[in-house]
Amino acid sequence: MVQKKEQKEPDLSKMSQLLLAGATMLGESCPDCTVPLFKKNDEIFCPNCERKAVYAKNKDEIKTIEQKISLGEATHQLKEVLTGKITLLTNKLASLDTPGEINEILELIERILGILEKIS
Ligand SMILES: [Zn+2]
Repeated sequence: MVQKKEQKEPDLSKMSQLLLAGATMLGESCPDCTVPLFKKNDEIFCPNCERKAVYAKNKDEIKTIEQKISLGEATHQLKEVLTGKITLLTNKLASLDTPGEINEILELIERILGILEKIS
């Protein structure tokens, strides 16, 4: 049997790994590669194309979903950066002994924690 080279074969070992990891195989399949879609942690994705799948009724909805995804990614990045800054500020705080400087750092940490709370 000759297989077409341009058609990507579904990675069966990957799919079984997903099932073992607690993912569910859905009845629907990916519109691009026809491999069954998987669902894990409320996220639907194609294991073959390695991207998220979302259900949308119309173009506007697709746009909204895409915006939500990119906002989610930006938020995730911001969270990582801010968490790094808190570590940095905490280290700086340990070396300070002037009340004014300590206060300044504490205010910054407080602000960062406030932002983290808002976005999580
Ligand atoms: Zn796919």
